[in-house]
Amino acid sequence: MGGMTAQDETSRAAILTVDDDPGVSRAVARDLRRQYGSRYRIVRAESASDALDALRQMKLRGDLVAVILADYRMPELNGIEFLEQAMDIYPGARRVLLTAYADTGAAIDAINVVDLDHYLLKPWDPPEEKLYPVVDALLDAWLESDHRPVPETKVVGHRWSARSSEVREFLARNQVPYRWYQSDEPEGQRLLAAAKADGLALPVVITPDGDPLVEPSDAELAARVGLATTPSKDFYDLIVIGGGPAGLGAAVYGASEGLRTVLVERLATGGQAGQSSRIENYLGFPDGVSGAQLTDRARRQATKFGAEVLTTREVTGLEVRGPARRVTFADGTFLDAQAIILATGVSYRRLGAPGLDDLTGRGVYYGSALTEAAACAGQDVYVVGGANSAGQAAVYLSRFAKSVTMLVRGSSLEKSMSYYLIRQIAGIPNIAVRTCTEVIEASGEDHLEHLTLRDTAQGTTETVDAQLLFLFIGAAPLTDWLDGVVARDGRGFVVTGPDLSPGGERPRGWPLDRGPYYLETSVPGVFVAGDARAESAKRVASAVGEGAMAVMLVHRYLEKP
Ligand SMILES: Cc1cc2nc3c(=O)[nH]c(=O)nc-3n(C[C@H](O)[C@H](O)[C@H](O)COP(=O)(O)OP(=O)(O)OC[C@H]3O[C@@H](n4cnc5c(N)ncnc54)[C@H](O)[C@@H]3O)c2cc1C
Repeated sequence: MGGMTAQDETSRAAILTVDDDPGVSRAVARDLRRQYGSRYRIVRAESASDALDALRQMKLRGDLVAVILADYRMPELNGIEFLEQAMDIYPGARRVLLTAYADTGAAIDAINVVDLDHYLLKPWDPPEEKLYPVVDALLDAWLESDHRPVPETKVVGHRWSARSSEVREFLARNQVPYRWYQSDEPEGQRLLAAAKADGLALPVVITPDGDPLVEPSDAELAARVGLATTPSKDFYDLIVIGGGPAGLGAAVYGASEGLRTVLVERLATGGQAGQSSRIENYLGFPDGVSGAQLTDRARRQATKFGAEVLTTREVTGLEVRGPARRVTFADGTFLDAQAIILATGVSYRRLGAPGLDDLTGRGVYYGSALTEAAACAGQDVYVVGGANSAGQAAVYLSRFAKSVTMLVRGSSLEKSMSYYLIRQIAGIPNIAVRTCTEVIEASGEDHLEHLTLRDTAQGTTETVDAQLLFLFIGAAPLTDWLDGVVARDGRGFVVTGPDLSPGGERPRGWPLDRGPYYLETSVPGVFVAGDARAESAKRVASAVGEGAMAVMLVHRYLEKP
């Protein structure tokens, strides 16, 4: 049998180091070899181009690379530029920049540009204190996550099949690597033939093991591509409902502080933030960070601390059972815990214009622009909405599309969008902004072909050719399932703490001597964090912060209910 053991795998994995100073290069390699030589192959290069050549050769041979250490000051490519190119070859390898003290500023910038894992100041003596602990931690992380060759899921579908587009979105948002094949192209047809599929029911998803799934449900997909869907226990200290920034924040803090924590998410972790192409205002990321990257890191952090993360599990009920709090899932199963954090955020509103519902997923997309970006190449694209999410999408799509037209109902962007984005948009020549404009109809045979727009200032209508329309038109909390259990405001947002008892009196039915804590709902032991909370800030940072704060209040509740 040709199967590789774990030992074979790691013995083939490499740690690569590149420094243009031969003396330094040899010294790093020597220190690495001494500590890791028995388990890893140490590959040394004295220029960025040699190192890239070595990486390409290893890629062709199918070798694994665990860690790359690069000097910052090198003549042809500096360390950051080199790591950026190395990342294209080995995205899973952990990256370290070696810098002199004077270059730490550049290293800190690189943390965002190349998603650097660490920077090390030279000299790193003694290596036992300064080098090995860093490399050990990176090897551990690599072994846990990326040491297998990227398993490839294949999706064969049609560009204008709504379910194909949902499946791609689902995989992308869950950071499952996949390759997309159009069913009407030769390779797609070969795959369909191999899967014995007639091509009428699409998409067909081929798992990394080679099993074809015809039109799979999200839950089926999740289970087959390695996402956890069932809890390992039936009782937890804390159940976090929703896997956006607030939920992930709560899971990280809950688990890291010793609470048996499970996070349940109906679709994909990341929530709204996971759909953002670039979050520019989150603390610590001066060059912005993509929602996918932030989500991936947060999810790894939560699981590292021992939180369980379940996807495709929609919560549909909440019940108080003595000291326990029970959540019920859409499939009728349930889970109990001592405390609950609701972090269910908000979901996009739908636009009611005729034709839009039928064409959703077939040229009309809500909320997300990322998966479809490639399809925008050379197209005239429309974006509806005047808030930051629409602005970010327009900026992102303008890199692919021939033109992007923003359709804004209000008379200007100033009222609804951040100043930095308005300026950015003004500076991009292929974005046009049409204010006082509404979509009143969408039409097309099997996909979007035309939009009818109304200019509300002039009272005129116009029909334009359009293949792609992205809608970002505000959001509402999906909290109907809390009806009759947890108090909500008129728009469905969950009311907490002092707002439950404006006159200082206890909320109706409140059973305890104390009043509700700051993020506590009308049910003791049930907290809410993030966008779902009434009067919340609707920002990533505040959602994360509230997740952390809710955990602190859970501790207080558990000590003295
Ligand atoms: C495109 C876009 C760009 C943005 N850009 C920025 C930005 O640059 N800066 C910034 O600060 N903010 C930005 N925001 C806003 C920011 O993303 C939100 O404020 C933040 O995501 C709120 O986090 P949350 O965890 O409260 O909720 P959400 O992110 O909405 O997450 C809620 C999660 O709960 C899940 N869920 C809901 N109901 C259930 C249920 N019953 N059972 C199980 N799971 C459930 C949902 O599927 C979702 O994953 C942006 C938003 C969007 C859409």
